[in-house]
Amino acid sequence: MPLERLQKILAKAGIASRRRAEELILAGKVKVNGKVIKELGFKADPERDLIEVNGNKIKINDEKIYILLYKPRGYVTTVRDPQGRPTVLQLLKDVKTRVFPVGRLDYDTEGLLLLTNDGELTYALTHPRYKVPKTYLALVEGVPEEEKLQALRQGVPLEDGMTAPAQVRLAGKEGRRAWLEITIHEGRKRQVRRMCQYIGHPVLFLKRSSFAFLNLKGLKKGGYRYLNSEEIRKLR
Ligand code: URA
Repeated sequence: MPLERLQKILAKAGIASRRRAEELILAGKVKVNGKVIKELGFKADPERDLIEVNGNKIKINDEKIYILLYKPRGYVTTVRDPQGRPTVLQLLKDVKTRVFPVGRLDYDTEGLLLLTNDGELTYALTHPRYKVPKTYLALVEGVPEEEKLQALRQGVPLEDGMTAPAQVRLAGKEGRRAWLEITIHEGRKRQVRRMCQYIGHPVLFLKRSSFAFLNLKGLKKGGYRYLNSEEIRKLR
C-alpha cells in the first residue's frame, strides 16, 4: 500500500473524522511502530506499519456504512458525553460497526443526522468549502416581519462573524409563534438558534428536515436506515 498521511489512515479506519484524528495526533495519542508521532504531515503504510491509538492497534476496515437517523430531542451527537446524557449511538441498536456523526445537532434539536465510519466523506460534507445545504424548521417566538427575514437571508452578524446568505421562508403561523424554514450552507455551533435570536425571535423548537438531497421520509423519531448505493454515490 502506498504511504498515506496518518490522519487519513485513522479516518479511513473509522477511528474518527479527519479533523478529530488530527487532534488525536497533536495530543500525542498516536504511535507508529512504537514511536509517538505528533506531526500532521507524517506518512505511514497502513498495511506494514504498526499504528496505535491510545495503545490500541488500529484495524483497516474497508467496509463503509452510511446511516440516516431521525434524531429525537434529548440526545447528544458526540460519541461520549461528560454529563452522561444519552448519545445518538445508543439508538443504533443493530449497528455493530463503529460510526460517528457527520456534523452535529444540539441536544434539543431533532431531525436528520448522518452517521458513518467514512472519515473522508465526513470531512468533505462538513467542510464549509463544499457548502452542503441543510434545511431546518424552526418554531420561533413572535411572527417576524419581512425585513427581519430579509436580514437573515442576507446575513446577520454573530459573534463568530457574518452568516452567509440563507434561504428563509415564513412557513406558517401558530398564534403568536411562527414556523420558519431556513436553509443554510454553513454548520456553526447553534447557528440557526443564534440567527433567530439575533432578529429577536428566539427558537422554541428546531428540527433539521433535510441534509443535501436527503430527507426524513419514512422514518419515525429515533428510527434509522442505511443509505442505498445510489444515495452514497450522490453524496460523494
Ligand atoms: N442550528 C442550531 O442552532 N442547532 C442545531 O442543532 C443545528 C443548527
